[in-house]
Amino acid sequence: MRIIKLALAMALVAGLAACQKTTAGAGNVDGARIAAADTNGEWVSYGKGYSEQRFSPLDKVNATNVGQLGLAWYAQFDTDRGQEATPLEVDGVLYTTTAWSKVFAFDAVTGKLLWSYDPKVDGKKGFDACCDVVNRGVAVWKGKVYVGTMDARLVALDAKDGHVVWQTQVADAAKPYTITQAPRVVKDKVLIGESGAEYGGRGYLSAYDAASGKLVWRFYTVPNPNGADGAVSDKVLKDKALATWPEGSWKMVGGGGTVWDAIAYDPALDLIYFGTDNGTPWNQQVRSGGKGDNLFISSIIAVKADTGEYVWHYQVNPGESWDYSAVQPFILADLTIAGKPTKVLMQAPKNGFFYVLDRTNGKLLSAKAFVPVTWASSIDIATGRPVENPSARYKSDIDLQMPAPLGAHNWHPMSFSPKTGLVYIPAQSMPFAYQADPKFIYKPGGWNLGVSMLANAGPMTPEQTKALAANIKGWLIAWDPVNQKPVWTVNRPYFWNAGVLSTGGNLVFQGAAEGQFYAYDAANGKQLWAYATGNGVIAAPMTYEIKGEQYVALMVGSGGGGQVSAPSLLPARPRLPGRLLVFKLGGAAKAPPFKIVEPPPLNLTGVKTTGDKTHGYVVFNDNCQVCHGANATGSWLPDLKRSILITTPDDFNSVVIQGVRAHNGMVSFSKFLKPQDVEDVRAFLISQAKGEPLPGAAVAAKAASGAK
Ligand code: CA
Repeated sequence: MRIIKLALAMALVAGLAACQKTTAGAGNVDGARIAAADTNGEWVSYGKGYSEQRFSPLDKVNATNVGQLGLAWYAQFDTDRGQEATPLEVDGVLYTTTAWSKVFAFDAVTGKLLWSYDPKVDGKKGFDACCDVVNRGVAVWKGKVYVGTMDARLVALDAKDGHVVWQTQVADAAKPYTITQAPRVVKDKVLIGESGAEYGGRGYLSAYDAASGKLVWRFYTVPNPNGADGAVSDKVLKDKALATWPEGSWKMVGGGGTVWDAIAYDPALDLIYFGTDNGTPWNQQVRSGGKGDNLFISSIIAVKADTGEYVWHYQVNPGESWDYSAVQPFILADLTIAGKPTKVLMQAPKNGFFYVLDRTNGKLLSAKAFVPVTWASSIDIATGRPVENPSARYKSDIDLQMPAPLGAHNWHPMSFSPKTGLVYIPAQSMPFAYQADPKFIYKPGGWNLGVSMLANAGPMTPEQTKALAANIKGWLIAWDPVNQKPVWTVNRPYFWNAGVLSTGGNLVFQGAAEGQFYAYDAANGKQLWAYATGNGVIAAPMTYEIKGEQYVALMVGSGGGGQVSAPSLLPARPRLPGRLLVFKLGGAAKAPPFKIVEPPPLNLTGVKTTGDKTHGYVVFNDNCQVCHGANATGSWLPDLKRSILITTPDDFNSVVIQGVRAHNGMVSFSKFLKPQDVEDVRAFLISQAKGEPLPGAAVAAKAASGAK
């Protein structure tokens, strides 16, 4: 947006000869190479190899010398939104993506930019992204680099120079579908899903021919209310799923079950595993009359790699009602359970239980809570179903529950070390006030939850605030998956911390919300090293070795769902440009400090409004809080309490009604709000800018009492 990075400019000056030399035969990755990366030092797929363990045996950087780790090189990007990507390293080239689905290829040793690609996504698509305009990375296969875009395209680039070889529309861009997921490639097929369950999307996983971009198969995760799709999922949806969806608004809204993160592959079993999101609307009462399991939302599904045919599924949350998705990253490993070598699939989904499944047949082997959980007491091993607490299925009363929709663990990758036998989980805790929305009306293109967002925005007593704060936590948990218990834990000052890497050097690396990048002893959690990035970190680090030198790479830049929807719970920091930091032993490069410009205080003298601030409080929290924070406490997607736009109705309307900032993702709300609603919101924002008490006390008290 505002900075052309120095490294980028230098790379252009460096000339093409070096680039062509480094990139000859570029992107030479196939299935054997990805499978081998499960155990060797290469990192050639999103989760390293097909098993997504994110453990590297590299040990040149280790617990005895990690104190000498320093910056080898860095690059700064032209976007200040969240950076979630894991870079891949293939034959000396580091491939990464940034927010807005841009792709960059660097010389992995020097940091020289080799090429970049901008899919030029229309900024309006930012509105369709529930959780920031992020992207988690590329796939590389036989000379091509694949990226999913915010406007739901899958693009194949030439690995040598980044030119577009083919592209295809994975989902209708006119609908609120987006893609943030990193593609994976199995047997010459590029696998990609989509995001959008909050908006009413219907989920599916697609497999495209890697060479031509032609669709090979598609597996829909929820039934089509209008009949068959002509897809490989038709039979299983008819036989197993349709009867689990009684009447309800899902037929109109879409059902959910989008496929936006976890994909893994077992070459020996030839099975592809993928996870599905929550149902739409969230509230099962609204979605399907409170009845039925609603297959295959919130599920782990195994299909045949060649055809996409259904093999087995395990539903994490039958009849899901809390945004407890099962798309969180999988790890495939072979564990010794009860003395027997067992092929498992492990997941720590949003709902707070750590699941170990037999990946040959989907049978649940064990499940234990890894954070405080209020919605269920346990998972019944015999049936595989949760033992839900009676109050979990919230109705008209506010029900404070944990985990929150942001999850006990979200997309942030975890890591499994075969050396320690531990899974390192970026875990978190946060309560959420669930309350059924008695007046659910389908809003095409908007959020459709069937849950009152106002319940989380009521004014609180100091005691309530204290109780809430005491339950907002972040941890790095080293979890023993065989005995289902923690071995060590690092407490974090904030929730929404970063993805994890473990290595053969007995190290665990993780970035944190406050901006530090840490290395710990993998066996006991002792902190061995830290580096201040100057920005929040959410992405997972990766590591690679070139000519005997080990490097550790990390994308830096706060953002994503936690930063967008709960900014007041994270460090107060303006949006800062994303960076790629690459470290090595003895690295002596310096990244300059970020320039932080404080906006001047807003002068509200003479500012007038005819709006009703109490009604504005309701409208704001129903429509605006998922991006601007409950009660306008947000300081990340602009702090509206400090925005000059609120000083006149014309300026405010130009953005909210006329949509003059649609290019940033702030589209016109004219189809959701009446002109008086907008003025009422402005009145509410002015009252908050003046530091007045929340005008909603009476409204919240009424809502809390269940009155309609
Ligand atoms: Ca969701």
